[in-house]
Amino acid sequence: TEPTEAPRPPRPDIIPTLPDHIDTEISDEITYEIIEGVSQRSSKILFDSLGFRYTIKSGARKNGNLWRCCIRNKAMVCKATVEQIGDVFTRSMTNHIHPAEPGIKTKIQVTKKVHQKAKENIFQSAPAIIEEVMLAELRPEDPASSRPNPSNLARSSNYQRQKERPAEPTDLDFELDVNWIPADFFRKDIVVEGARHLFFATVLQLQLLAAATSIFLDGTFKVIREPFYQLFSIHAFLGDHNGDNVKQVPVAFFFMSR
Ligand SMILES: [Zn+2]
Repeated sequence: TEPTEAPRPPRPDIIPTLPDHIDTEISDEITYEIIEGVSQRSSKILFDSLGFRYTIKSGARKNGNLWRCCIRNKAMVCKATVEQIGDVFTRSMTNHIHPAEPGIKTKIQVTKKVHQKAKENIFQSAPAIIEEVMLAELRPEDPASSRPNPSNLARSSNYQRQKERPAEPTDLDFELDVNWIPADFFRKDIVVEGARHLFFATVLQLQLLAAATSIFLDGTFKVIREPFYQLFSIHAFLGDHNGDNVKQVPVAFFFMSR
């Protein structure tokens, strides 16, 4: 068959004329937001809506600020900048030499919130905090890159906490800081004949112990480090009203130096 030629649209009589000046609409749509205290290295970060971020170049401007792209490392130095005068941000002609990171602002904010919460709630597990913050902060429409990697975040949160904690004791002659022990758990610091034992139990555990008719004693060594030697524990056997479904429940813990 012969190829048929598609009918051409009729040429319009009036060709619309382009305006003399075309606004750079794309750059007009970029929005900027300054967030303080998001990283340890710089106090303020400027985020744009495209997924680029900038830090202030110190001493660059008398009026306003010059922000330069955060991607400046051994492998890559991006020279893109944004000039700020008051609330007006103008992107420089120099383009970024790397892809934008959509969601980076949310990712950094979630990370910051998790770290903060982990420091404030020292007895709550990092994964529980991460789940709580992610549920509160992330919206379904956020790109996947807004989500920090949970296991990396748990590791960095625990590292932050570790830096705050008192140093691990190297010998038995240390002061116990009860602020780092959950409330109503530490019972007694027992020093006897050169040995030291720390006794822990909740009120409920003590009640169970008092009511128990048979108990079981156990010592474990793996979970304990110097200067302590063993974790000694008392377990009670608890059953239902008929004495069936008996379970063994730990009711007291002792860090023992021997
Ligand atoms: Zn850049």
